[in-house]
Amino acid sequence: MLDEHDALREIGRLPNRPPSHVPPGAMPRAAARQEHDRTRGSARERGYDAVWHRMRNMVLAEEPLCRLCGREGRLAAAAEVDHIVPIVRRPDLRLDRGNLQPLCRACHARKTREENAGAHRSPPGA
Ligand SMILES: [Zn+2]
Repeated sequence: MLDEHDALREIGRLPNRPPSHVPPGAMPRAAARQEHDRTRGSARERGYDAVWHRMRNMVLAEEPLCRLCGREGRLAAAAEVDHIVPIVRRPDLRLDRGNLQPLCRACHARKTREENAGAHRSPPGA
């Protein structure tokens, strides 16, 4: 059994743990992960991962010109890779090369706008 003196020596031998210090502006790892979860966006946005980026780069390398502009006889540099069938309708085709087409910014923006509008529009005749 330790007397008071020994007990104090034991305490003195305890590893000196500095209070875990977090630099100002930084978040502890767990909190940062939660913050990331909260802000990383919709399920659709979360799908844009490393594999997608590789796929996207491959499509742009293969077809550097906007496909829709090309159909109308225009030459425009592709800036985006579009899902021909939107991911919301066919998530399984997200990384299907056949469902990907290169588009210029204008065509991609127009197509996205049309898709979003279509989602809220009543079917013809309804
Ligand atoms: Zn275009």
